[in-house]
Parts: sequence; C-alpha cells; structure tokens
Amino acid sequence: MADPEHIAISKSSGIKIDWRDNHHSDYSLAYLRDECPCATCTGAHGTPPQKSNYSAPANPFQMFKPALKMDAVEEVGSYAIRIHWNDGHSTGIYSFDHLRKICPCEECTSAL
Ligand SMILES: [Zn+2]
Ligand SMILES: [Zn+2]
Repeated sequence: MADPEHIAISKSSGIKIDWRDNHHSDYSLAYLRDECPCATCTGAHGTPPQKSNYSAPANPFQMFKPALKMDAVEEVGSYAIRIHWNDGHSTGIYSFDHLRKICPCEECTSAL
C-alpha cells in the first residue's frame, strides 16, 4: 500500500508527496483536479463522465475560467485526502494508492 512520509500542500500551486520508499511525487492543481476519482468525474454510476480539463491548453473561444485553487484539504482516515476546490467540487477522495498510481513523474509515466 502507498505510504506517504510527508505531504506538502500549497492551496494555490499543488501537492508534493514524499513516499516512504523514497519516491517523490509532485502534482499540479490542474492535474489533480482532472484526475478527480469521484463518481461524477469518472462516470462510475453509469452516467457520462464529467471530467474537467483544467490542464488542457486554454481554448480561445472558452469563457474565462478563474484560477483553480484548493479551498481546503482534509484527511480521510489515514489512507486518503479530500480536496475542496474553489470551483465548488469536493466529492473527490484521493486515496494515497490512487495518488501514487497517478504520479506524474517521468519514471512513473514512462513505466505505463
Ligand atoms: Zn470529481
Ligand atoms: Zn513517480
């Protein structure tokens, strides 16, 4: 099981995790928001996924989007964190297993 040694949270830039096995993960806000594991974003209940696309390049025809931020981060037991986003979304519970799986570092993404 993924086991974080230290979690550094910056509400305006992202989350960094040092894992006990000496791996290091650095998640941007947009990436975390787009990887939200909740049922609404992933379509887990048979509904169409409503995945956000904050990390996509800005579309010139799109209305201005306010900068993404985290309003609050709470711990869920000892296995996950829940992020409250400033776009009103707060149903995503990011387990450490999920976070480790979506680690965006070169080593993890090239292993896929
Ligand atoms: Zn979600
Ligand atoms: Zn990694």
